[in-house]
Parts: sequence; structure tokens; C-alpha cells
Amino acid sequence: MMIGATLSLNQPNYPSVPTNPQTLLNPHHQCSHLQNASDASHSNDGPPFQAIYRFRELLISHRDFTTLAFAPALKACATASALSPGKQIHAHSVKRCLASDVYVQTSLLSMYARCGQLDDAVRVFDEMPKRNVVTWTALIDAYLRSEQPEAAVTVFREMQKAGVEPDHFTVVSVLSACACLGALNLGRWVHAYIERVGLELTDYVGTSLVDMYCKCGNMADALAVFNSMKAKGVRTWNAMLHGLSVHGHGREAIQLFSRMEIDGVHSNEVTFLGVLCGCSHNGLVEEGRFYFDLMQTKYRIKPTIKHYGCMVDLLGRTGLLNEAFRMAEEMPVPPNIIVWGALLSACRIQNNVGMAEQVSERIIRIQEDFRNDDTSHYVIMSNMYARAGLSEKMAEARAKIGKKPAGRSWIEIGYDVHEFAVGEASHPMWGKIQEMLVEMMKKVGSEDAGEEDLHNTHSEKVAVAFGLLITSAPTTIRIAKNLRICEDCHSAMKSISEAYQREIIVRDCTRFHQFKGGLCSCNDYW
Ligand code: ZN
Ligand code: ZN
Repeated sequence: MMIGATLSLNQPNYPSVPTNPQTLLNPHHQCSHLQNASDASHSNDGPPFQAIYRFRELLISHRDFTTLAFAPALKACATASALSPGKQIHAHSVKRCLASDVYVQTSLLSMYARCGQLDDAVRVFDEMPKRNVVTWTALIDAYLRSEQPEAAVTVFREMQKAGVEPDHFTVVSVLSACACLGALNLGRWVHAYIERVGLELTDYVGTSLVDMYCKCGNMADALAVFNSMKAKGVRTWNAMLHGLSVHGHGREAIQLFSRMEIDGVHSNEVTFLGVLCGCSHNGLVEEGRFYFDLMQTKYRIKPTIKHYGCMVDLLGRTGLLNEAFRMAEEMPVPPNIIVWGALLSACRIQNNVGMAEQVSERIIRIQEDFRNDDTSHYVIMSNMYARAGLSEKMAEARAKIGKKPAGRSWIEIGYDVHEFAVGEASHPMWGKIQEMLVEMMKKVGSEDAGEEDLHNTHSEKVAVAFGLLITSAPTTIRIAKNLRICEDCHSAMKSISEAYQREIIVRDCTRFHQFKGGLCSCNDYW
């Protein structure tokens, strides 16, 4: 990460857009990249645009207006993802010599970040002669928005070096970066900081802590924070519930839901997603059916595709493939690839080639409609054909396997997070890591070689090798991974945990795997 470079002061770079107020700001044509549904729900004459029009009227009337006029107009641009008016307001701020106004510049930074223009946001930051805690937090958020949690952490470090004290917004942003990266040590440091400076454990801050501990695989601390919180909102309960579920504590998740009912917390669709997900990770079929029914009858919540996905997953995992297939076919919303993908995994676990073929056909049909070229279902099919001895079909499926999205893994050592990506040899210790990888693979007798040479080794294996190299027993090796762990890595992790007598925790994009003594907490059920 080259954050150091971006923090240097660049030459001022002013946007070259007209500053004539008459030509300024017709935001109607500017919102081409609305970022999410809530942004999109603003009608063109709704509140954000009114703020932009008000700004234009001020400009046209030639009245003196203070710097206070900028923030609401820029916020409006950010909400509507209206980059072009935002740039024009930027130009006006330059014309009015507001380049050193920390409030105006911080609003500009946020506007660029929220319009997805990270480079512009960084440039504004670099050119600011003065920055306050809001500015730094806006930059941390900018990196989080563009899915660079590592860089967000680096900015936080720079902020500390600059002697700026974090506020509760900063703390929440940094905790969210820690959660993405599985950076438990830094997360703990933030927690200690909150206690040291006596930041109030509000619903907002507390929920972030609970979420961070859950996502870093530390359930005991998550529960301790959760239980100590006086103000718990539904988001707090949901974070705890979801944490328990993805860790395979389905029964505890159900107990927590009962506590919610007793406390009169207003459960929402996310709550039920957590409960159903817990049921599905633990194979609790009857309970799953009960809560799927309860959400509709008692809570009047209409199940979304995600709830149906959980149910299909639950039924499929427990071997009720026909029922799962029927539910997918008959759901009121057309099932997507995630739903069919869950069923395909179930077919893999149950070794049902016939149904897997039917499911695979549906996946291919959806992909054709959406021009999606993900080929991971061919990987599953080819493995299933191989196991069934259908070598011709296996070759056919294998030929269709394309490039997978790049896998990335993160491992925290001390307070530093190291990133490994497939095919990347940029780590300064790469030579040593390679040696360790070879040794490790030999020791666990892994590799149906040919398929993977060192450069194609999946990132979680590289991260484990690095972890073994740089830490010693009994330190637990904690890895976060952006994709689902593959079968080969999963079995390798089990063997490594036994061969090296180390506990290894891998959080992939769906759940936690805790490898210990040759076994995984998921019971090979994922
Ligand atoms: Zn793998
Ligand atoms: Zn596992």
C-alpha cells in the first residue's frame, strides 16, 4: 500500500469546469451512477436537489454567502451521486479562495468519496493545509467505500502520527475496517482506546464492536460487549445473532432470538435471516421451518430471496434435496444463482449427480440471461463427475472452467495486516514463504500436483505458510478470505492444523472454519 505517497502535498489540481452560475448545476442529468437503492429513491426534485438549487440561487443573487452554504449543497451531490454539480461547486470554492477552509474541503472530500471518485478525494485531502478529525475520518471512509480496508487502516495510523484524536465516527470506521480484515489485535486496541478515553458505548459504537469481534472470530468478547451494552438497538441484536449463526452456534442464535422476543425488540427481516442462517449451518430443519413460518404469520414479514435461499440451503444440506428443489422452483421470486448455487453444494455433499446436473442447467440458463461468466459450478460438476468415474463428462466440464475472480487472503501479525493474492509474489518475504509452502505441502502430503504450481497456490495456503513462518505455537493463525474456501484448501487446512499442532481460523465469505487437530468446526459442511 502506497499511502505514504498519496499523503504528500501535490500541486493544486483545480477542476476545469465552468463557474458561471447561470450554467451551473442541472443536476437532473448528472445522477448516472446512483450508488444504492436508497440513493435512487430520491426523486429528482426531492430534498437533495433542493439544496443544490438553493446554492445556485445564492450564487445568482450575488448575495454574500458564507462557507456554510457549501456543506449542504455538497452533501446533496453526494447523496444523489451527482458528480458534475459537485465538481462545479468545487470550482466555486476555488474561485472564492476557500481552498484552505477545512469544513468546505472536508465536504468536498466526502462528496468525491461518495460519488466513487477515490483519487479526487485523496487529492483534496493532500491539498488541505489543515485537517481535523472529520477530515481524517472522511478519508478513512473513502477507502472503506472503495473496498480498501487495508488502506483505511494505514490512514488511521497516519492520523495517529499526526496527533489527531479519533472520535466515535472514526472508531466505528476503523472497527469496520478491522472486521473486513479480521484484524483482531487492532480491533482490540480500538476497544481499549474506547475504554481509556471513556467514549460512550452507544448503540452505534457498541454494535460495531460486537460486529468486529464476531467477524474476527472472537465470540467470547463479542458476547461480553453485547451483554455490557445498556442501549441495544435491533442492529446490535442482529449483529450478535448473525455472529452466532455463522460460527455454527445455531441453538444459541435461537436462544438469543427468544431473548429478543421477551425484551420486546422489534425483529426485522435481517433478524430472521440470522435465525434461518443459524438453522441452516446446524442442520436444524424443524426449527428452520418453524421460524420461516413465524416470520410470515406473527411478524408479517414477507420472505425475500435471501430467506428462501437459507431455506433451500437448510433443506439441501440435511439431504432433503427433492424438497429443496421444489422450494426453489416454486418460490414467488425467481431464484438467483446464489439459491441454485447453495443447492448445487448440497448435491455435492450428498453426491447426487443427477440432481446436480438439473441444478447446473438452471444456473447456466440464468447466466445466459445475465451475461455472467462465473464458472465455479463447472468446478463442482467436474469434481463430482471425477468422483463418479464419469471421465468424459468430467473433461467436458473442466474445459469450460474459466478464470476465477482473484482470491485474496489477509492475515494479521501484530498490528500489521498482510495481504496475499493468487499469482502475486510481491511480499518482501516471498522467498522464505515459498520455502515454507513447499515444506508445508510435503509435510501434509497434499497436492494432486499439476493443478497448482506455487504461483497458483490459493491465497489462504500462502497466508498459512506465512503465519507458520512468522508466529510460533500456540498462537492461533487467523485468516480472512474474500471467496469461499475450496475443497482442496479445506482439507489441506485440516492436515496442517494437525501436522503443526496449530489452531487455524479461516473466515471465508460465508462462514468461519476453525481447524484444530485435523478437524474443522464446520464438520465439512459448508
Ligand atoms: Zn483453495
Ligand atoms: Zn470447515
